Amino acid sequence: MKESFEKLQKHLERSAALGVAMGLFYWDGDTLAPKEASEYTAKVLAILSAEQFDIMMGETTRELLAACEQEEKPSEEEEAILRVIHRQFENLEKIPKDDFARFQELTTKAHVVWREAKEKNDYALFAPTLQEILDMSRKFASLRVKEGQAPYDVLLNDCEEGFTMDILDPFFAKMKEEIVPLLRKVQENPVPKLPVHSCPLDKQRAFNCTLATYIGFDFNRGAIGETEHPFSDALHTHDVRIATHYYEDNPESGLFSTIHEAGHSIYEQQINPAYNLTPLGGGGSCALHESQSRFYENMIGRRPSFWKPLYASMQEAMPEAFEKISLEEFLREINRAEASLVRTEADELTYSLHILVRYELEKQLFSGELTVEQLPEAWNAKYKEYLDVVPPTDTEGVLQDVHWSSGSFGYFPSYALGSAIAAQIFACMQKQMPVDQQLEEGNLQPVKDFLREHIHRWGKVKTTRQLLLETTGEDFNPQYYIDYLKEKFGR
Ligand code: ZN
Repeated sequence: MKESFEKLQKHLERSAALGVAMGLFYWDGDTLAPKEASEYTAKVLAILSAEQFDIMMGETTRELLAACEQEEKPSEEEEAILRVIHRQFENLEKIPKDDFARFQELTTKAHVVWREAKEKNDYALFAPTLQEILDMSRKFASLRVKEGQAPYDVLLNDCEEGFTMDILDPFFAKMKEEIVPLLRKVQENPVPKLPVHSCPLDKQRAFNCTLATYIGFDFNRGAIGETEHPFSDALHTHDVRIATHYYEDNPESGLFSTIHEAGHSIYEQQINPAYNLTPLGGGGSCALHESQSRFYENMIGRRPSFWKPLYASMQEAMPEAFEKISLEEFLREINRAEASLVRTEADELTYSLHILVRYELEKQLFSGELTVEQLPEAWNAKYKEYLDVVPPTDTEGVLQDVHWSSGSFGYFPSYALGSAIAAQIFACMQKQMPVDQQLEEGNLQPVKDFLREHIHRWGKVKTTRQLLLETTGEDFNPQYYIDYLKEKFGR
């Protein structure tokens, strides 16, 4: 690495170390920390994050960055460092400091208001705050637009570099055109649900650890805890934490949370360790991260070939739940599709339609076509049109997600993109190796190696679209996802 980049790296290591410390607090706060810790932990976190902000945005960073920019012929990694840091700067530079602080305060407050509104099923309580958040988000985006750019595109590009409306519009149009009619057909021939089958939590815990190891999670460089809403948190490649959740009467929920989070975590464990504590460390974009978790959860974890060599040992480990259920019945259960009201509980087929609703509404909110007041009605109308269900309450409707209360506009599409990217990578993998045969032999290593070689090891060096192009030979192409869903659920 060139000297100027080494100096920059040395300087930024402090900020990265603070990031690791905060990451550990977040994981701990949601798993093991005692309830009364939260007040002081919040104070500690505020101090650490202010410190981190000062390092990142300070004069020294700017001077070192300017020196790096003078370097001739930077390497691919050095160029990536400049790109990543510029994205962080660009985000904050044009926004007046006072406004930024006011927005932080507003969204902290909004979280409490949103929760109360959701609990009381009272949208009117949340609407004025949402209006303020929308106004400020729109203002910030307008300050940052480049010539001819729509404000909403600024926010989309923040979440997913290069995935703006020119790519998302045709993607979601295809979903609407192909998946909505497919869902109608599925709804005409519903697959019955299995009767309730319970299993003691201890047995679930033990089997889920076996399962995580089976698919490739390394317990020497990771740990599993429990929480209300499953998530993963990577400190660096050698310490990756999973938080999962087990329900006594729904062991499938735990299984697929574990596989999903292990997918996120295997990604983090396979990044080139040389990038630890550098701006290149950690996974790429949100959509790319989500593509890896969904790859393991859906492409691999719901396949018959995956369960064939594993099912008998699961029956043995959790006889209370699975002794009387055949492999075929189990496979039918985990691949069932049914339109529901709540995004986080949606299945593989309907998930992207929940995102379609949010994408269209956000676009209309930003263009001014839709007002905050009209939002619940528009929400329900779109659920009726695409999923053929209508939320009986706003709690299960427009108030269900936390995102808007934190000002996260433009974030939802990442979830749907993750599934589509996973399908594109899987189609490519299948052309290069006999995936089903390997899975039937109980050999998950080739899948893990393929993902490390093409995706994981790069950390933040390459953008999502670049990785897709280099791995699959083409830019983002949602057709693979549509074909995958049509083939599977058409059957
Ligand atoms: Zn995820």
